[in-house]
Amino acid sequence: MQSTAHAFKKNAAKALGDAQLKTALGRLELNFPVRRKAAIDGLPEFDALRDEARAIKTHVIENLDTYLERFAAQVESRGGHVHWCSTPAQARETVLSICRSVGAKTATKGKSMVSEEIALNDFLEENGVQPIETDLGEYIIQLAGEPPSHIIGPAVHKTKEQITELFHQHHQKLGYTERQTEPEAMVNEARQILRRKYFEAEVGITGANFLIAETGSTVIVTNEGNGDLTQTLPKVHVVVTSIEKVVPTLEDCATILRVLARSATGQEMSVYTTLSTGPRRPDDLDGPEQFHVVLLDNGRSAMLGTELQDLLRCIRCGACMNHCPVYHAVGGHTYGWVYPGPIGAALDPHFLGIEAAQHLPNASTFCGRCESVCPMKIPLPAIMRHWREVAYERKVAPSLQRAGIELWAWLAKRPTLYRVATRLAIAMLGAAGRKRGRFAKLPLAGGWTQVRDMPAPEGGTFHARWRRERGT
Ligand code: SF4
Repeated sequence: MQSTAHAFKKNAAKALGDAQLKTALGRLELNFPVRRKAAIDGLPEFDALRDEARAIKTHVIENLDTYLERFAAQVESRGGHVHWCSTPAQARETVLSICRSVGAKTATKGKSMVSEEIALNDFLEENGVQPIETDLGEYIIQLAGEPPSHIIGPAVHKTKEQITELFHQHHQKLGYTERQTEPEAMVNEARQILRRKYFEAEVGITGANFLIAETGSTVIVTNEGNGDLTQTLPKVHVVVTSIEKVVPTLEDCATILRVLARSATGQEMSVYTTLSTGPRRPDDLDGPEQFHVVLLDNGRSAMLGTELQDLLRCIRCGACMNHCPVYHAVGGHTYGWVYPGPIGAALDPHFLGIEAAQHLPNASTFCGRCESVCPMKIPLPAIMRHWREVAYERKVAPSLQRAGIELWAWLAKRPTLYRVATRLAIAMLGAAGRKRGRFAKLPLAGGWTQVRDMPAPEGGTFHARWRRERGT
């Protein structure tokens, strides 16, 4: 996927003017957070479970090499293959060579954010292998020629009406001439089309939510069952995943699954939790003849021991974006790369470089909701703050912004002067805005007044008010 993270401001302006996007995001705001809250209220031990899940991931990240080696040995001992890939290019080439080894013309795909990260679909298509997304949301955006806008709801930015038109446009040539407007009929139509594809594909590609070190199993959670068909019907199953997904045992995986579904969609568990352990054995009724795990690093091991290490605990539940006021306003495409929302704002600068992704850590009000709902308690605002500091130190931020920060820091270190200056500024602003009670335009606050008025200050500075009310 070609990054447009550098154009965040332009993307945001476009998104804010998109009425259909606003409708779609409005539904998201009323959906996932409400369901998450209900699921958590119904489980008194949720916080204890969350601490347990977090401790498991922390332990794994601190012993990543041990568990990855154990996982790889178990996969190999069961007849599977593990392909260690440092870069997206290596991972893409590996998947292509597996496809070519069996003469694959098509590959069905389950949902995989890592495959988005390595831009797998475009690469396979350019090299003669047609990827077919089978997750309904992914299928919709593949038809639309768009990247996902949410890590668990890739088509969450689309309204029902837009999907009706999309299906009508693409399905007519397959003999489905009636325009379907009801969700059930639309799902049935997509299902009928996709069913045939499962039988035609030589290769099935899935992601993995977890890798189990003790058994060499890969685990996916879905609500549609598409992942099961993708991995059991073709001759070859390729799991495209990344190194931080490993957990020590099946029991550990079960603990994290209990917080994952509740945090993501508000379900107690996802509808399907599917484990794959090696290729088909002689007495198995079905399953692939070959089982490959493409294990991507792509800079993850470089995060170990740094301010970014906590990000490796992420289980891609999407709760941070479901609760983010910025994400709700502008949607996922605005972030311009694979991982949107607060997790993207913290993670994407690592993958893209702070120069290309400098706006993302600033796309936050620091309200702290993301950290408070994160099942892994990842300190997302602190990591975004870290990136702001990096941008400042590397002089990536515009010189005017840096000069403003420097002036602020200079003033803040001189409390007496700071109080005098702010008192004076507030008094002047209060006097200037007394007549209308607000400003339609204000120097240095153009970003604010461009879309809303700035209220004129009333009642003095925060410090003065604090002292007055506390009587100090
Ligand atoms: S950062 Fe936390 S809330 Fe966001 S996707 Fe990752 S685990 Fe979920």
